[in-house]
Amino acid sequence: MRVLLVEDDPVISAALKVSLEAAGFLVEACGDGERAWALGSDEDFDAVILDLGLPRLDGLSVLKRWRQEGRAMPVIILSARGSWAEKVEGIEAGADDYLAKPFEPPELIARLRGLIRRAAGRTGNVITAGRLSLDLFRATATYDGAQVRLSPLEFRLLDLLANAGGRPLSAGELGEHLHGTDMLDANAVEALVARLRRKIGSETIETRRGFGYVLRDLAP
Ligand code: CA
Repeated sequence: MRVLLVEDDPVISAALKVSLEAAGFLVEACGDGERAWALGSDEDFDAVILDLGLPRLDGLSVLKRWRQEGRAMPVIILSARGSWAEKVEGIEAGADDYLAKPFEPPELIARLRGLIRRAAGRTGNVITAGRLSLDLFRATATYDGAQVRLSPLEFRLLDLLANAGGRPLSAGELGEHLHGTDMLDANAVEALVARLRRKIGSETIETRRGFGYVLRDLAP
């Protein structure tokens, strides 16, 4: 899961980045509104964490611009002030959730996972694809009821396919989301898929020629 972290306080940003990465997110951090707007317009993120008080362009304006452009990724707003007026303004601007500072990183992470799940049209933590069952919260997988040992990269690839909700993802898209801006090339993604197929059955990850990979028989 690739998230954009927009926060101009370097101490808060660095601490959040560490917590998010430890929770398995790929983090792109940015400290000003103009840059955040450009990043969110041009690149795909699974979710955005957006501080409101930012240099160059405030968070609410960034959010309004994204929504006007039709960018629909889930956005959680951070603010130093927990005022109801600001919360209402944020929600009206298109925010999906709101967290007042100070907060504990685990709360932010739990809410982010919830937002990403809801954006994918699911309400539970466990999804199945044929004989494969994935627990997205615990980052565990079973195949035919038996626990499967997955590397973090393998789990992230399955997580991406699960959250795509049946839409095929190309090796290029997967590579971008697995490794942020340092693209993992298509050959590396294919090798990763081949390794996964040995663990969770060759039929679980289907190849749609010309489109990409999809989890077969995906069910929330
Ligand atoms: Ca700020």
